[in-house]
Amino acid sequence: MELETVIGLEIHVELNTSSKMFCGCSADFFGAEPNTLTCPVCLGLPGALPVANEKALEHTATIGLALGCSVSPITKFDRKNYFYPDMPKDYQISQYDMPVCKNGYLDVEMTAQELSSQSQEPYVRRVGINRVHLEEDTGKLIHIGQSGRIAAAEYSLLDFNRAGVPLVEIVTEPDIRSADEAKAFVQNLKNVIEHLGVSDCDMEKGSFRCDANISLRPVGSEELGTKSEVKNMNSFRAIQRALIYEIERQTKILLDGGRVIQETRHFDAVGNTTSSLRSKEEAHDYRYFPEPDLVPKVFTEEEVRALKAALPELPTDKKKRFISDYSLSPSDAAFLTSSKATGDYFEECMRLKGDAKKVANWMMGELSMHLNAAGLKIEESALTPRHLLSLLKLIDAGSISGKMAKEIFAESFETGKLAEVIVEEKNLTQLSDSSEIEKIVMMALSENSKAVEEYHQGKDRAIGFLVGQAMRLSQGRANPALLNEILKEKLSEKA
Ligand SMILES: [Zn+2]
Repeated sequence: MELETVIGLEIHVELNTSSKMFCGCSADFFGAEPNTLTCPVCLGLPGALPVANEKALEHTATIGLALGCSVSPITKFDRKNYFYPDMPKDYQISQYDMPVCKNGYLDVEMTAQELSSQSQEPYVRRVGINRVHLEEDTGKLIHIGQSGRIAAAEYSLLDFNRAGVPLVEIVTEPDIRSADEAKAFVQNLKNVIEHLGVSDCDMEKGSFRCDANISLRPVGSEELGTKSEVKNMNSFRAIQRALIYEIERQTKILLDGGRVIQETRHFDAVGNTTSSLRSKEEAHDYRYFPEPDLVPKVFTEEEVRALKAALPELPTDKKKRFISDYSLSPSDAAFLTSSKATGDYFEECMRLKGDAKKVANWMMGELSMHLNAAGLKIEESALTPRHLLSLLKLIDAGSISGKMAKEIFAESFETGKLAEVIVEEKNLTQLSDSSEIEKIVMMALSENSKAVEEYHQGKDRAIGFLVGQAMRLSQGRANPALLNEILKEKLSEKA
């Protein structure tokens, strides 16, 4: 039996409004002293009355519009009833049957880089967006114990600063077919939302979180298999690895003739496995009913039109513009628009009059490599666009060689010093004085008479060795073209 993977994602995005969803408390809770940003409303004390945050409703509609959704003329809030220690009022204000937005999509371009299998041809997957709704975030439990998980905790601490922060939930259709696609989709979605400026989308801080529903079914079947839901994936890599594990686990069960149990599973990033957390609730378990303390929100046509008109340039349009304005290849443009910060970095380099292709190459090459190795984001790099252009200017002027440029780049990345300062301090300028180079070449030839002899016997390989020796004598500073030229000249004189 050949099986097909079916994945649907639920992504939660904390909005960066100044106040919480239903009260005036500050929503800027990260790093704040626990339980200092609370009031009777977000603590859910009896008699407290919520008031909906209009900005959060607008931001939610903006996200929906960017994803090609329609905005509901009337949207209302509902109570989702459940008990969990981080939600002690016993319900969460969410949206059930009338979400802010419905029916959109996001196209995911699966290029060679996105695909882990080299043999697969690039393609585009259109992933349907079922709904975009608004709810309040829960408080935060901190489990004290070695594992950091509730099951083995000695005790748990509760912080309600996050309770009531506006949280948008984006639910996809089960249109995703592989772990690669899921990862690429989440990357693209994060990129779109970053461009909208409605969330900081910081996965490490939990302001952009992803849950996945996975099931398998025989190829050709229309019916959905029993799914499991995986939570606790807080990086793109974790999403991919959790899904790979889960697909293998379910495949094995089904091929052995077993049944998959509907449940919620926890992803363990250290062991790269998932484990059962609890059996999965159905919608009826939550006994939804309309929130009696909030009036439905009406979005007028003018309001929707205004929100649409205010949409900023989105990654797909930016990519097209980069290709046409800067004559970049589609793959270069795709890289440069893969995150808002990457695009901003590139455009700052352009504003400083950089050469588009050269800037792109250095960003994709050395900069990416150093950022990855240091575990830094591009916006955290000490090597700013001004630093990169300082380096490119020296290369263009012929003051430094390509090899030296890489070394200077590394130091600039490390110290935040401009390339021209490093060159000055270390006296690294390229040696382009022919008489100086001639002296070095002569020295190299006399020190390596055997190689010279071999060259004259027709062994062309010997010249590479001699170039290397001369370069070494110049401490890497000799202009390579000039060095080659002079070396050949001297060798022919000796013949
Ligand atoms: Zn409050």
